[in-house]
Amino acid sequence: MNNTSVSYRVEPHDLAGHRLRITLHIDRPAAEGQTLSLPAWIPGSYLIRDFSRQIESLTVRDAAGARPVRKLDNHTWQVAPGDGPVTVDYVVYAWDLSVRGAHVDQHHAFFNGTSVFLQVHGQSHQPCTVELVAPAGHADWKVYTSLPAAPGRAALKANGFGRYQAPDYDALIDHPVEMGTGQSVSFHAHGARHVMVFTDAPADLDIDRIAADVKSICETQIAFFDPHARRAPFLDSADRYVFMTQVTPAGYGGLEHRASTALMAARGDLPVRGQKDAGDGYRSFLGLVSHEYFHTWHVKRIKPAAFVPYDLTRPNLTRLLWVFEGFTSYYDDLFLLRAGLISETEYLRLLARTVSQVHGTPGRLKQSVAESSFDAWTRYYKQDENSPNALVSYYTKGSLVALGMDLMIRSESAGRASLDDVMHVLWTRYGKAFYMGQQTGVPEDAMADIVQQATGVDLRAFLTQYVDGCADVPLGDLLGAQGISLQWRAPTVPVIGARLRKTADGLVVASILEGGAAHEAGLSADDLIVAIDGIRVDAQPAFDAALIRAAASRRSLHIHVFRQSMLQDYVVRVDHTMHTECVLTRTESAPGPGNVPG
Ligand code: ZN
Repeated sequence: MNNTSVSYRVEPHDLAGHRLRITLHIDRPAAEGQTLSLPAWIPGSYLIRDFSRQIESLTVRDAAGARPVRKLDNHTWQVAPGDGPVTVDYVVYAWDLSVRGAHVDQHHAFFNGTSVFLQVHGQSHQPCTVELVAPAGHADWKVYTSLPAAPGRAALKANGFGRYQAPDYDALIDHPVEMGTGQSVSFHAHGARHVMVFTDAPADLDIDRIAADVKSICETQIAFFDPHARRAPFLDSADRYVFMTQVTPAGYGGLEHRASTALMAARGDLPVRGQKDAGDGYRSFLGLVSHEYFHTWHVKRIKPAAFVPYDLTRPNLTRLLWVFEGFTSYYDDLFLLRAGLISETEYLRLLARTVSQVHGTPGRLKQSVAESSFDAWTRYYKQDENSPNALVSYYTKGSLVALGMDLMIRSESAGRASLDDVMHVLWTRYGKAFYMGQQTGVPEDAMADIVQQATGVDLRAFLTQYVDGCADVPLGDLLGAQGISLQWRAPTVPVIGARLRKTADGLVVASILEGGAAHEAGLSADDLIVAIDGIRVDAQPAFDAALIRAAASRRSLHIHVFRQSMLQDYVVRVDHTMHTECVLTRTESAPGPGNVPG
């Protein structure tokens, strides 16, 4: 049956208890004692997550019976030496409703290989087989994954259960699996098969509309990276690309893989049949799809050298996440524009929102995007109430750096080059042949040289100031040169420099922005707001309305809060000048056809 030494069998076996039963068979275990381990983190999500803590009851047997096994560290097991093949039986508890872990219930089972597949040390570079087994009593379930089928015509049943094969461990853990009764649709983009599956989506989901929109995003990106052959990048690893979306009340997020992506979407963001305009929510879902699909090239193939290969036991530090997440965040909405899914006016509104967001974060003046990248593991991924004052996002500020670079290149090259040329060089040099043997990553200090080689423009001073330094990218001037005006206006709702959060107890201060009116008045994170101007807060129409009234009559607000158990009273001036909103408007016709920039 198996022509590989390592084979896994995965069976959801206790749906109500959220458990996967795994059987790992090793034909030729290391004679001196086989080492096994589970990754401590999942590529794309830069936090140590200790997936091994969800493994229950691991045992090893061979032809003679039980074989002893012991833990070497939190993620690693060692099987005692012995003769002949061994079988490892273990159970994974799967109740993490996120794109990063594993989740099993009576509706479906979703898992990432990083939660499920023990690495067989010494055989990580060998092919391995995976048998997916339907849970008892669920004959209507189907499998969705980009894992290639095992050789042989009988490997898979029509519903997708059966035997799959991965060329090595790195591939094995980069093809998540969804199984269940989700709604699915498939389409071809430039000849390559794409499948979308939605779990727990509304019954009247307009899946054909979504497929048509996503197809245009995929085709636009494929043609961007490969204008001549238009070959989808994932064909080096799989015969299809799979979008697997878990629908929840308010979910949002995604995780990229070499031939698939796992997404979370809010129920209300997805269009239903008969609905014409699905608005901002659907636009942000398409933006997320565009973002994760762009990663198929950029971070799954073009990678920082620090990720080649991944070390799955510890944080892999790079100062380049602003290139990989920032550029991707810049291109995600830009590809909605290029695919004709949003207008230039809408695009400028989305861009202005990002500018406002970054501008409203005091931490941008303390941390550079290079530092934010490097410390992602302990800071961006471990945010607390002070994060807006201490951190900058390599996503949002990274996207503004990308915009600034694009505009600089366009103006310095008199329109002959753009950031697109940088992407093409990155792809040709580092990405195109990544899974075909040429596994090199982008060196930490290479970006300035790459930009210069790709465009002839020297951006060293720019990168020093805005990537290694904390200065605001001078977008007003740069956009102005392209016929787009950047202006600041007072916010629609006046602000006090506090982020609030609704909780079961009431309205709670989530964060205080440094230097704002709330900070000046003495309010603090975790304060429970109980009254405004002497009126109980839940008897007020809304906090926003109180702000608008106060601003209109140029008054300050009396805010009563409980800090722990103490009642306190603060006078907060309503600020007209801080936290202004960015507005972008086209003032001159575009220099090229459909170019916003790009
Ligand atoms: Zn991303």
